[in-house]
Amino acid sequence: MENTINGIHHITAIAGNATRNFDFYTRVLGLRFVKKTVNFDDPKTYHLYYGDKQGSPGTILTFFPWEGIQTGRKGARQVTEIGYSVPEASFDFWLRRFEDKNVIYNKVSEKFGEPYLTFLDPDGLKLELIASKSKDDRLPWETNEVKAENATRGFHNVTITTNKMQATADILTGVFGYRLLEQSVNRYRFVTDTVKNAAIVDLVEVAGEVAGHVAGGSVHHIAFRVKNEEVLMQYRDKIAALGLNITDKIDRNYFYSLYFREPGGVLFELATDNPGFSVDEPLEELGTHLKLPAQYERNRADIEKSLPELA
Ligand code: ZN
Repeated sequence: MENTINGIHHITAIAGNATRNFDFYTRVLGLRFVKKTVNFDDPKTYHLYYGDKQGSPGTILTFFPWEGIQTGRKGARQVTEIGYSVPEASFDFWLRRFEDKNVIYNKVSEKFGEPYLTFLDPDGLKLELIASKSKDDRLPWETNEVKAENATRGFHNVTITTNKMQATADILTGVFGYRLLEQSVNRYRFVTDTVKNAAIVDLVEVAGEVAGHVAGGSVHHIAFRVKNEEVLMQYRDKIAALGLNITDKIDRNYFYSLYFREPGGVLFELATDNPGFSVDEPLEELGTHLKLPAQYERNRADIEKSLPELA
């Protein structure tokens, strides 16, 4: 795990109404609200982080909620599915819960020998609960309604839809150290052996699929995990050497980042484990305060007034 890509770090998507998003992920899905901050490029918009107790890499789903944003269109050159790992015995609980909470869901199906349950968040983002074949011993976050035996363990995989998978596959295998694990029709499953969980990326190749439009209910980018800034910059050199445009190192307060658009059209980020979410509030209080990056502290009163209450 020293100088390797260690699976998924976080996934960032776009929502409409912030309160509805907060309610769905903390109450219906039972994730921990790990951080309440703002979009560093648009401080009158929230950036909401959901994950496990610590906000561990591989569990973090984040949203930019833009009230009134149009709904995006699913298609090629996008992350089109986000898979959470759950215990197989939890499916009955989730089916009942989705029925009770008016969540749109599909019947339990199977891919690569693993049962999964597809559902949509209130903005139409496509998510899956997957019972992994391999043991997932990550400690779940527990709420009054979603107890440990049913709770999500963090990410299992992501799915990218692409017109032509080879160029993206080359980044995964040639740069990120993934290998092709299995193929079923047009779904290619890649895995990294550096971590036990959140280690899988599926590429679904659909030659004629129209490019998606990233807006409400779509994934904005996927971040892959590296140990620290030194490794981050080693990967910057490797990616730049391929002739791809990549940003300079960006300080995201909770991690350091680089962004580049992979040849298949999806925005990839690399993000560090350090410093983590308890850098600006204690572990027990994660998500309970509005945290602002230093440059916006002097506008705190204005920013607080412009953000909707999350309750
Ligand atoms: Zn990100």
